[in-house]
Amino acid sequence: MIKKISDEVLMNGKAYDNLHYLTKQIGGRLSGSPQMVKAEKWGIGAMHESGADKAWLQECMVPHWVRGGKDKAEALYNDGVSAARNLKTLDVLALGNSEGTKNKDLTAKVILVNSFDELERKKDSVKGNIVFYNYRFNQAYVNPFLAYRDAGAYRGSGPSRAAKYRALAVIVRSLSGSTDNNPHTGATRYDTALSKNKIPAMAIGLRDADWLSDQIQGNKIISMTVKSNAHFLPDTIGHNVIGELTGSEFPDEIITVGGHLDSWDPGEGAHDDGAGCVQTIEVLRVLKALGYKPKRTIRFVLFMNEENGLRGGNKYAEEAKEKNEKHIFALESDAGGFTPRSISFGGSAEQLKKLQGWVRLLYPYGVYEIVNGGGGADIGPLNRTLKTPVAELAPDTQRYFDYHHARNDVFENVNKRELQLGAVNMAALIYLVDKYGL
Ligand SMILES: [Zn+2]
Repeated sequence: MIKKISDEVLMNGKAYDNLHYLTKQIGGRLSGSPQMVKAEKWGIGAMHESGADKAWLQECMVPHWVRGGKDKAEALYNDGVSAARNLKTLDVLALGNSEGTKNKDLTAKVILVNSFDELERKKDSVKGNIVFYNYRFNQAYVNPFLAYRDAGAYRGSGPSRAAKYRALAVIVRSLSGSTDNNPHTGATRYDTALSKNKIPAMAIGLRDADWLSDQIQGNKIISMTVKSNAHFLPDTIGHNVIGELTGSEFPDEIITVGGHLDSWDPGEGAHDDGAGCVQTIEVLRVLKALGYKPKRTIRFVLFMNEENGLRGGNKYAEEAKEKNEKHIFALESDAGGFTPRSISFGGSAEQLKKLQGWVRLLYPYGVYEIVNGGGGADIGPLNRTLKTPVAELAPDTQRYFDYHHARNDVFENVNKRELQLGAVNMAALIYLVDKYGL
């Protein structure tokens, strides 16, 4: 059966074409945007076309944050020799959920801090200035997700921690180890316990971050000017897109497989998480194309609002709880459309052992281990509220943060075969759980 799944996906797969449509005809799909609405419509159509017994939209309120135009950061500097003043435009992106400068120039001195410890040491000089967090991705981690987790606090709580000492704005080194200069956005979280001031916050490309750091250390920066029109509009209606194959023997036992449909605005949301969405649809398509009749009910879910609110994931779990549904397993793909390597699993030791017994069946298609870990963000609420065992496809990690939340997260940077192989392993795992249970 798994060989048949693989043959069908590799020879007749639709995931790549679907990704092309989603990225090129729709594009970036931030919650509340017109592209979100288009993507939801497309998703329902794709579910029907791929053979779902039924498909529906599950409504949830979503935050509606907008960038509101082009973000700007300029450094006024001199060369340390002549009196000439130069202006350099830096490549920046306002952080998601941030408040901008109401589209007005904000000019101030810039204070370099390489860590939160340094912020504490420099706290008396922060007032009235812009804080530049230059905390680097730790290259010693073989798995860049660990570097992302390590540096993530600067994007998440950096703005409020600087606002506590009366900073006017922050610039954060992008959460990436890439060699280019594309800034990487992503959600920040204002913490009103630290400061009531929601100060503007931007991510800066790595080359510009290095330049800025060098110039500040050489005492060459005179001032910086930032501008952003980022702001929130009132919450609006979004939807999870759900397709279903109804179980023939145990229809009350539900297996969920999904990715998230929303994405950041600068790119096309190709790896994050268009890949997970089209792989999810491909799992449905291949099971149907092979005439497989699942014993259990399989739900194919394109979650809304993972990036800046998780409202879709929360809604899915909430409704499951209200309806007293029995969710026996959930699988997410939200780590890029790269070559599958492993699967992480959050459940009991006994269940993990059972899954690990299937590794030799997945091995020919790329997954060589199943490890203790967790599922994706969108199925986290299911795990927390209903104790559903969760898993995530863990593809190769080395290139993900070259594209993650940046303008180069586009279709062209996804490889067709790698994307398809991810879907093969997802479909195989769903098939095994459906057939043998957990
Ligand atoms: Zn994602």
